[in-house]
Amino acid sequence: MIRLNDIISEVLSYHPKANIELIQKAYVYSAKVHQGQIRLSGEPYLSHPLEVAHILAQMRMDVVCIAAGLLHDTLEDTTAEPEELKELFGEETANIVDGVTKISKMHFTSRKQREAENVRKMILAMSNDIRVILVKLVDRLHNMRTLGFQSPEKQREISKETLDIYAPLAARMGIHNLKSNLEDLSLYYLEPDVYQKIKTEVSLRQSENKAFIQEVKDLISTKLEEFGIQSVVKGRPKSFYSIYRKMVDQDLTLNQVYDVLAFRLIVNSIKECYEALGFIHSMWKPVAGRFKDYISVPKANMYQSLHTTVIGPVGQRMEVQIRTHDMDRVAEHGIAAHWKYKEGLVSSKTDEKQFSWLRQLLEWQQSLKDPDEFLDTVRMNLFPDEVYVFTPRGEVKSFPRGATPVDFAYSIHSDIGEKCIGARINGRMVSLRQQLKNGNIVEIVTSSKQHPSKDWLDFVKTPRAKTKIKQWIKSQEREESIVLGRNMLEKALEQERLSLTSIMKSDHFSAIAEELSFINAEDLIAQIGFGEVSLKQVVGRIKTKLGVNPEKPPGLVSKMLVKLRRTKSHAGIKVKGVGEMLVRFANCCSPLPGEPVIGFITRGRGVTIHYQNCRHIQKADPERLVEVSWESSKENVYLAKIRVLSLDKKGMLADISAVITKNNGNIMQADIKTTMEQKGISHFTVEVENHKHLEDIMKGIRKIKQVLTVERL
Ligand code: MN
Repeated sequence: MIRLNDIISEVLSYHPKANIELIQKAYVYSAKVHQGQIRLSGEPYLSHPLEVAHILAQMRMDVVCIAAGLLHDTLEDTTAEPEELKELFGEETANIVDGVTKISKMHFTSRKQREAENVRKMILAMSNDIRVILVKLVDRLHNMRTLGFQSPEKQREISKETLDIYAPLAARMGIHNLKSNLEDLSLYYLEPDVYQKIKTEVSLRQSENKAFIQEVKDLISTKLEEFGIQSVVKGRPKSFYSIYRKMVDQDLTLNQVYDVLAFRLIVNSIKECYEALGFIHSMWKPVAGRFKDYISVPKANMYQSLHTTVIGPVGQRMEVQIRTHDMDRVAEHGIAAHWKYKEGLVSSKTDEKQFSWLRQLLEWQQSLKDPDEFLDTVRMNLFPDEVYVFTPRGEVKSFPRGATPVDFAYSIHSDIGEKCIGARINGRMVSLRQQLKNGNIVEIVTSSKQHPSKDWLDFVKTPRAKTKIKQWIKSQEREESIVLGRNMLEKALEQERLSLTSIMKSDHFSAIAEELSFINAEDLIAQIGFGEVSLKQVVGRIKTKLGVNPEKPPGLVSKMLVKLRRTKSHAGIKVKGVGEMLVRFANCCSPLPGEPVIGFITRGRGVTIHYQNCRHIQKADPERLVEVSWESSKENVYLAKIRVLSLDKKGMLADISAVITKNNGNIMQADIKTTMEQKGISHFTVEVENHKHLEDIMKGIRKIKQVLTVERL
């Protein structure tokens, strides 16, 4: 069993002035509260936090982190309280222990594979101090090392969780040795046969190659020394799990995977890295396309090294990695290696550390070639814009920060969103406006009487919830106008002693709807409710169909109106999601085909089409805006007004008219005025096909010599 002194001497070896007292206090406290507890191995429970703290010390962590390692199970397994820890060991230590406890309470064993990424992100997000994750990973490592005392089911369960969640988390943070330790231990429990086979084979090959590897190592270091370069040459061990993955992923035999020899050269400076590389390349022939310079372009997880492959002394491939001692430490320990010891100061603000972490990321950004890789790193480590919460069944869902139970409800199903009246978060009832926090367990409460409200739009954050709520409001308006339209029509018909029900049963009403260019009878009724269609006109038509009052056929004017509606209501524009509606063009901006436009739902007058940047539309209720687009059609023509400023000259009007006519424009109206400064202002109303047609005409007018400006009104 590790003793306190082992930990302390380890710490003093890399930080002689460390505040050892904090570690001693944590040890005494931990020993006290864990007293009498026994691990499955039969050892006193204290052995576990001691081991964890020792591994953390080997990773050269600070005293706060090591104290937290000693205390990491006190909140979960003993009567210790967070407040007490805070008082005795300071806020930082207490926060780390608290964070580790929270993560320990999550169980990811039933998690579907595809959600593993979310879980990793969530763990990162929940740990506002990165040391929380370091302690948790080391805790898991020691538990994996002592997993043999657990039941076979537990062994598999925990190994799977380790492989799915914790090993990738260690990889994300660049802690390579921790990652491969976790992976190899998981493989040992999940695929015992494969593990044994690889292990036997590897040790067999190692002893076979031993002499040869030693020879190459000696050769390299003696030669380098002749050049004045001090180096440590290591035969590079491959983790069992990485061999296993290569066999599975690339469908290779163990022989094929293990065919390549690998060496690692560790030198004193970056300059020497490149010198050593030159030396290796001069000694053995490099394999084309296998050289990678991660020194000048580090990987996102901070990894730096030179990689090359050469044809070795007896003609086989040798992979060589070259790096400095510092880089080697980063490669092994990742973020843990970057832990800066603050001299004298035990407590330092977590925010500051987060900030320096960010700053460092930004510095790397300049050296990282792949922007996606960088972004991924930033997102993974500092994603202030996302929160991760659980469903009651333990699935993880991610939301934009500030999201509410309504967003959560809509993410399950729009029916649940519409009927949502509140939520239970971690078992406590909260309001719809409550913002979700990382790690919340969210359960939606619904009621059949509930329906969406416009107010919800003020606080929902997800586009899905927004769209669904808007859709509901729109369909509700339509339903309301159907009810209204039906009432109006019923009353009007009653006065004529007619029954709406019987008329609806006959084909007459549908026929009228068709005559008036509506999709169906319901649509016609809705438009009556909207005030879009004259009630009188509809009643008149019904009477005609039924042969009542035949002396009053629809007059010429109303016939023309219908004709006008037919052409104008379509007017070459499509209204999305609303179907056929009366469409008018706004007088304020008179948009032309091809121009960006937007629709405004008026009360009772259908949709008005505005130019997208029209001043009036900027002030309009965004709720009532609809997306519209132009239909390509040559049948429609539009009126455009243009103003031409020119030098006053005889025949100017004729010149301009000629240009318009030449461009197939139809002049509907024209006038010209002369200003005091002897300039002419002409106004034209021209029939054009579309925006481009108008542009062509205007371009033509500009070419006339005396024309100063041409603008559209
Ligand atoms: Mn533990």
